[in-house]
Amino acid sequence: MVDLIEMKTIGLTGGIGSGKTTIARWFLAEGIPVYDSDSQAKELLHTDETLKEKIRQTFGENAYIDGIYNRSFIAAQVFEQPHLLQQLNEMVHPAVFDHFENWKKKQKSDFIVKEAAILFESGSYKDCDAIITVVADEDIRLARVLQRDGLSEQQIRQRMQNQWTDAQRRELSDFIIENNGDLESLHHNFDRVFKALTQQFQTR
Ligand code: ATP
Repeated sequence: MVDLIEMKTIGLTGGIGSGKTTIARWFLAEGIPVYDSDSQAKELLHTDETLKEKIRQTFGENAYIDGIYNRSFIAAQVFEQPHLLQQLNEMVHPAVFDHFENWKKKQKSDFIVKEAAILFESGSYKDCDAIITVVADEDIRLARVLQRDGLSEQQIRQRMQNQWTDAQRRELSDFIIENNGDLESLHHNFDRVFKALTQQFQTR
């Protein structure tokens, strides 16, 4: 029998260090498939031959060394010529989109979650049936990322500047998960949203 009810896509986003991955793990624990756009994009830079060719055409042969994506070279190019970042994103987004669509076809669930740091910036929010944004104050996010990664405060602030603000994200979101407190209160906020999603989208 053909399944006429289309599987829903829930976008999960938020600024650097807001808590997206933490929330994504809790969805997985509830049995909801999660697509991690950021890791998949990194993977596709190494594995998608069409994408690799486009990147070579824009950045030159140094973009890959023995078939491996030359991250530091590309980062330096993008830093020197910021318009190249937009060009790179315009090459990567369609590749991730196709990969996501293929992945989604293989899932069995009433809804799936698409986690992406730049869900709004990339435009992929337009393909979502509902959007969750995780919000937390900038200084709290900064402290969390400083503890987690080897990045400097300046590097983190620069990434924040390249992303939308929470105020912009809020306007286009259906659900907000606030994460200025401890993990217990985050879990409580997650539960509330998870229940609402289940009520809205569970069909079986
Ligand atoms: P990025 O965009 O950088 O990948 P993210 O939005 O996925 O970040 P997480 O990786 O989930 O964010 O969280 C950032 C860090 O902060 C992690 O080390 C996580 O364990 C920690 N963290 C998240 N929320 C809390 C909290 N409420 N209390 C304490 N630590 C937290």
